[in-house]
Amino acid sequence: MLFDTRPKTKLEDLFDRIDERKAFEDALYNYPLVIVTGLRRVGKSSLIKAMLNELQEISIFLDGRSLYSSSGGNITHFHLISQIESELARVSLKYKIVKFLKELRGVSIKGNSITLIRKELDLSSLMERLNEFAAKNGKNIILYIDEAQYLKYYGSRGGKDLLTLLAFIYDNLHNTKLVITGSEIGLLHDFLKLSDYESPLYGRAYSEICIEPFKRKTSIEFLKKGFAQINLPVSFDIEEVVNILDGIPGYLVLFGVKYREFLDVKEAIEKVFNYLSGMISSELKELEKRSPRYLKILKHIAAGVDSWAGLKRLLIASGDIVGDSRLYEALNILQQTSWIKKADGKYNIVDPVLKRVIN
Ligand code: ADP
Ligand code: MG
Repeated sequence: MLFDTRPKTKLEDLFDRIDERKAFEDALYNYPLVIVTGLRRVGKSSLIKAMLNELQEISIFLDGRSLYSSSGGNITHFHLISQIESELARVSLKYKIVKFLKELRGVSIKGNSITLIRKELDLSSLMERLNEFAAKNGKNIILYIDEAQYLKYYGSRGGKDLLTLLAFIYDNLHNTKLVITGSEIGLLHDFLKLSDYESPLYGRAYSEICIEPFKRKTSIEFLKKGFAQINLPVSFDIEEVVNILDGIPGYLVLFGVKYREFLDVKEAIEKVFNYLSGMISSELKELEKRSPRYLKILKHIAAGVDSWAGLKRLLIASGDIVGDSRLYEALNILQQTSWIKKADGKYNIVDPVLKRVIN
């Protein structure tokens, strides 16, 4: 069903994305590392989950955002290991990996349950063993790390220990593929540091797939199909709705869900905005914690102030005496976190719905 707010996990539920599916599959079998980027709720997780399910590879899923929030922003070996442990439990329901892991230091097996002993376990040995298992069974292990930019908060060295593990996997485990996503595109690259000489992953080749919002026509088709699936006649102007909501599938899904509930277009759109401001307010709070200036800048840009000089003037007028380098830094962070984009020297909020919510 299209109007389901969770990421899709089956191809039959994934609307369109024909080119992206092919691009993902090609990348997966031609590169050890695939990076999938795109705005929040554009459908990265859906594409990957549905494809990995379809391709019948053995996936191990790590969720950067949930690691970050469940650890209070300080991700330790312990948090990482517990996520891997539950992933192994999931995988072992389908594949006979229990026997294969038996002899490994730091792994305790009782019946069919796998416990990882964090003080003893060496993650690269575990990955090595899983890789062997995959090779023997003619499969690949897909280590899929969602919203990986949060793993900068793993350990005390900006996530470097994890990057070292990824580099080891990349170089040595030929039946293991890395799939990494991030909504905060600049931060993701800043974390992976593929072109930084000092970084463990330096110089590795990779394929990057950027998922774009749906085109106008696709968004209209998406809504039509969604309403047809739930047998709800469309008695309003779908094009009008797409004019407002644009092409991020997550917002279209939400609209569908809310329209079904209230049977009123205005109210449904209002609810999408409300829901969205709730969802982003925690992200905005994170930004504001770093500096209240970020939110001020976003508000000005949302209101249509798109030039460096204009922003600087308004900040100063509001009593925030900002120097050039500080303003540059703030705008840079907002670009890195995918809130704004700069084109032809002008700043803009990338996501039109976000723009309304902030305004
Ligand atoms: P992201 O990982 O980029 O934040 P998700 O995959 O979680 O995005 O998708 C956000 C919402 O949009 C979910 O409700 C998901 O089901 C829906 N969605 C995204 N892409 C599609 C698609 N191609 N077909 C159907 N639903 C989609
Ligand atoms: Mg996601």
